[in-house]
Amino acid sequence: MEKQRYRFDDHASTGSEPEAELPDVKRNERRLPLVVLGEMVIMPHMTIPLQVPQGKSYRAMERAWEEDHEVLLIFVREAELEGYKSSQPQQLPPIGVIARLEEFAKLPDGTARVILEGLHRARIHTATQVTPFYRVRCSTVFDSDVEGIEVQALMDTVKQQVDEFVDHLGEVPQEAVQFVHRIDRPGHLADIVTWGPAFDFNDRLEVLNTLDPIERLRKAYIVLARQLELLKLRAKIQQDTKEVLDQSQREYFLREQMRVIRRELGEDDDSDDPIDELRRKINEMEAPDYVKSQALHEVKRLAQQGMNSPEAGVIRTYLDWITNLPWGEEQYSEISISEAQKVLDEDHYGLEKVKERILEYLAVRKLAGNKMRSPILCFVGPPGVGKTSLGRSIARALGRQFIRTSLGGVRDEAEIRGHRRTYIGAMPGRIIQGIKSVKSNSPVYVLDEVDKVGADFRGDPTSALLEVLDPEQNGTFSDHYLEIPFDLSKVVFIATANQLEPIPGPLRDRMEIIEIGGYTEDEKLEIARGFLIPKQREFHGLATEQLQISDGAVMKLIREYTREAGVRNLEREIASLCRKVARKVASASEPEAGTAEEPQTYTVDTDDIATYLGPERFTFGLAEERDEVGVATGVAWTTAGGDILSIEVLPVRGKGGLQLTGQLGDVMKESAQAAMSYVRYRSKDLGIDPNYFEEHNIHVHIPEGAVPKDGPSAGITLTTALISAMTGQPVRRDVAMTGEVTLRGKVLAIGGLKEKTLAAHRAGIRTFILPKENTKDIVELPEKVRKDLTLIPVSSMDEVLKVALAVTATPPDASRTAPSA
Ligand code: ADP
Repeated sequence: MEKQRYRFDDHASTGSEPEAELPDVKRNERRLPLVVLGEMVIMPHMTIPLQVPQGKSYRAMERAWEEDHEVLLIFVREAELEGYKSSQPQQLPPIGVIARLEEFAKLPDGTARVILEGLHRARIHTATQVTPFYRVRCSTVFDSDVEGIEVQALMDTVKQQVDEFVDHLGEVPQEAVQFVHRIDRPGHLADIVTWGPAFDFNDRLEVLNTLDPIERLRKAYIVLARQLELLKLRAKIQQDTKEVLDQSQREYFLREQMRVIRRELGEDDDSDDPIDELRRKINEMEAPDYVKSQALHEVKRLAQQGMNSPEAGVIRTYLDWITNLPWGEEQYSEISISEAQKVLDEDHYGLEKVKERILEYLAVRKLAGNKMRSPILCFVGPPGVGKTSLGRSIARALGRQFIRTSLGGVRDEAEIRGHRRTYIGAMPGRIIQGIKSVKSNSPVYVLDEVDKVGADFRGDPTSALLEVLDPEQNGTFSDHYLEIPFDLSKVVFIATANQLEPIPGPLRDRMEIIEIGGYTEDEKLEIARGFLIPKQREFHGLATEQLQISDGAVMKLIREYTREAGVRNLEREIASLCRKVARKVASASEPEAGTAEEPQTYTVDTDDIATYLGPERFTFGLAEERDEVGVATGVAWTTAGGDILSIEVLPVRGKGGLQLTGQLGDVMKESAQAAMSYVRYRSKDLGIDPNYFEEHNIHVHIPEGAVPKDGPSAGITLTTALISAMTGQPVRRDVAMTGEVTLRGKVLAIGGLKEKTLAAHRAGIRTFILPKENTKDIVELPEKVRKDLTLIPVSSMDEVLKVALAVTATPPDASRTAPSA
């Protein structure tokens, strides 16, 4: 441990008794006049001039000046000063400083100018006198001598701190710094550094009261460290602020320079201020007042925030939307019904009923104008039957702009109605986006795939759609982003869907449904000849004589290259043909090809198709090639129109299980189970061994395995296939059927008869079994289908079997009741 030696004051020894409890103190008592200082500390080694008013301290110094010039200083808070003025003895602090009075000069105003030099710490004992000034018994305290590398390290650190301080503060005389560096005792160093501005009254008092020199220096070190940290932080804050200011000043100067340069170049047109420009634009806008005032309000905000503020981009985007939306009057011409009819006929083949209803709709619009809220048209049908293109024709007929937006997969209300501006990257919803893109507030607006709108946790888009489509509400449609209402009442909305069922009820109620079924092969041929081929030819820059496609070739395209209810893929195949021919024509006309004289003529015939488009994709006539056991032909109604479906049943030895494969939906699985139950129930009549079901596993498969299938309308087909498999009677290959079946064998109605019969017709089926309840739909079927297909309405399973099974078993009696269980 550090060896400590004690130093004694040589001139102050009085020879009184030693004080046992204070090993560091030599009992060297004095009785000194007391000077009380408020809110200030004079440390040993410190010399300070003061002006002293009349009072006890004044008199104490007056007396000391007559004696040996020494006083005892104590340091108190301002509030405590008062007590020392009275004659009441005060509680004295434990430690004070003995100081020498270097000067005591009385001034004319009654005060005295004094110079005090701190000498040593003093331990205070008692007051021996209170008036006219205090005299106090005290004894000098000297620092113990300490050495060692730890002390040295601490001293070095503190000196370093002083240097840092000086660096930060500047303006400290070099001599003062050097003086500090020369100090070699820790207590002394601690006392000296308290002079600095880092220390306040409390810090100084704390240092004064700490007698152990190392401890004292440590305290000084802590104060310095804390203050240095503060200084650094302050400097950093100042630096950061300065950088920001510098940056904006820099921008300002650059902008000013740019302005000057542009003025010199003559590009300055005084409307340079973007804020003024915006205001002008808004005032000139053709829009209701509430729109303008909202926009001007935003401009004001922009002006306040400054063009370069982070917020500015958001506000400008918003203003961009507002100023570019068509708020003004509608612009379109009067409707002429005969003109509209001409346009519809020009664009579309057939569709007589549909066109008629469209014309009626237009007529009502014309007569009632905006007085009557006309309903929204909704075209329902498989893809490619012309729903969207009818919308386009209506726009043409009305002389209005045309927009379409697909709602397929929209699950979020915000997609229709926009996001609030508080979101980053917020935008208006699709409706307003569409309106902006055509710059018209009265376009024909086709909303595709309204049957594919879903709902999830982000809100129900249907309710937003209802607001869009409801004539009562859409005059003040509110988009979350715009915040101000937009008038959609002049827009002609047309919805399209593939299926009716999935459209939410409330939405369906707002619309006038027009169903468009698929086309027959003949109709497709006509459409191709009259519309698709001319359209594609023109599109590919081919003259009529440059490309001819024979009817046979078109038929081949229809039958072997497409399988669809509409004509979308047919059009694609024709486009593909046109592309190939266009290439040939183009390369033939290049000079190096030699024969550039005549425009080439290409005729595409049935046999050429494969050369152009590769081998066929579908085999035409899906009907089975021979009558088979356990295989029956059904028809399904898919979103792509109708399709033919063969159901296979295979019984194998087993314990009586039913296995279903081919991606069947729940409804279809149940329907298979019901069919099984019906067959069991009728097993006796059908001549099936009662033990058959316990001894066999039945496997039902519906190809193609990867395509999901569902619905109850395969009921009679399933039952027929089961019975055929169990009885061994083959099913007629040229018969297709559709119908739901009950457990007792009654046949119930189905939907989509047109698409189903078209599919059967396409597949080369001759006889078509349908539920009796659907007889009323037969009139809707294309004439060609009615002519080519033998349509057999049935009401019971027995009737089905009579037609479908190639070798008819003894006709089972349908009127028999179920055996009691
Ligand atoms: P959808 O909207 O029903 O899916 P589209 O309107 O996109 O179908 O039609 C696909 C293509 O078929 C379009 O080029 C359209 O002009 C054409 N088309 C469909 N039906 C007819 C028709 N009856 N007459 C002429 N072209 C048609």
